[in-house]
Amino acid sequence: MPEKSITDIPQDTTHRDVVCPFCALLCDDLVVRTRDGRTQILENACPRSAAGFERAPLAVQPTVAGRAASLEDAAKRAAQILARSKRPLIGGLGTDVDGVREALALAERCGGIVDHMHANAMANNVRVLQSRGWITTTLSELRNRADLVVLVGVSFADRYQHFFRRFIDPTTTLDGARRSNRRVYFMGPQKAAPTSDAVPVETLNCRPDQLDAMLGALRATLAGRPVHLRGVQQKQVAALAAAIRLARYPVFVWAPGQLDRQNGDVAIGQICGLVDALNVDGRAAGLFLGGDDGGQSAMSACAWLTGFPLRISYGGETIAYDPINFRSDRLLATNAVDALLWISSFGVSAPPPAGATIPTIAIGWPVDGAAVHIPAGTPGVDHAGRLVRTDTVVSLHLKPVRATALPSAADVLRAIAAAL
Ligand code: SF4
Repeated sequence: MPEKSITDIPQDTTHRDVVCPFCALLCDDLVVRTRDGRTQILENACPRSAAGFERAPLAVQPTVAGRAASLEDAAKRAAQILARSKRPLIGGLGTDVDGVREALALAERCGGIVDHMHANAMANNVRVLQSRGWITTTLSELRNRADLVVLVGVSFADRYQHFFRRFIDPTTTLDGARRSNRRVYFMGPQKAAPTSDAVPVETLNCRPDQLDAMLGALRATLAGRPVHLRGVQQKQVAALAAAIRLARYPVFVWAPGQLDRQNGDVAIGQICGLVDALNVDGRAAGLFLGGDDGGQSAMSACAWLTGFPLRISYGGETIAYDPINFRSDRLLATNAVDALLWISSFGVSAPPPAGATIPTIAIGWPVDGAAVHIPAGTPGVDHAGRLVRTDTVVSLHLKPVRATALPSAADVLRAIAAAL
């Protein structure tokens, strides 16, 4: 594999309209300066993006069994591990569209199973979409048209932090009246309700594991059926139902990874049922926030290329899709795979699930005890790339903002495939 040359970016550059790859909102209005080897966000940073852009790049040196190796030798050793494996798992998938394409191509060559680090969260959505379908909208529609936004348990504590700035209280909108009349409700624990200087946030106070029941009560109230809740909650449900009746375009927002692990899909199903009912003689929609670390890109690219969502295997004669048995955590905990290739190029999320005692190839950020580690750059920071936004209708081109010699995950995967 040829050594990657350092991208041609002058030492002191200010980049405008930079797309941030560190959560699935993909804000595209950052101003980023690179000077004297340091990268800093000058405008529109949030804590997550600041940490991501300002983190020092990975050292370029690959390792094999903990010892320095050339890229070529590391790729050869990784190919050897995959060739000897009867059932490898290609997991993590923290990469962009190009990286996912190469990961799928490699899985096809070596008979691997493919999964993403956030697929458990995204599976909540997939179950609902496959079983009943849904009516969803885009971030732009929400910004321009929604006059009521209901946040179903969404937390902005560590991601989606610019949701209010960009979509609830934007500087420009196509419909000023909708913006000035916009109401925002939060369903969830009072203490977790988001605050905003621009828009008061009203609350329907409930525990996270009560969200599906509150949504059911809301549907019943809107349908004119009797509802029996405790005093305050009954009043709050009635108040939100009244706000929904008044609204011309309510949008219900959820984050699948933040919903209760046991019944997250039930809550999403309730939202979709509510939206269906409101569309009988009006207009309403759902919108989910999720698919960070390239998760939405992985879902979309997998669907384009195979016809299935994630959790597929190339181990048989045809592609097999199994959202339960191809879960990374389950495969690793039960020793059902004998090699792991883990891709994590955003540097902000978890390492592989515990139990990975099998030969491991780490691409991007290191994994403890990996037999092979090949550092890779972050799309939109170290190299160009493409990511699909949370609302799935927009894919954004990302440009590098600093000069490094790091290859992309796609480059590394191509090199491994070439050595197989
Ligand atoms: S909200 Fe998400 S996409 Fe926007 S700047 Fe913060 S981390 Fe980046």
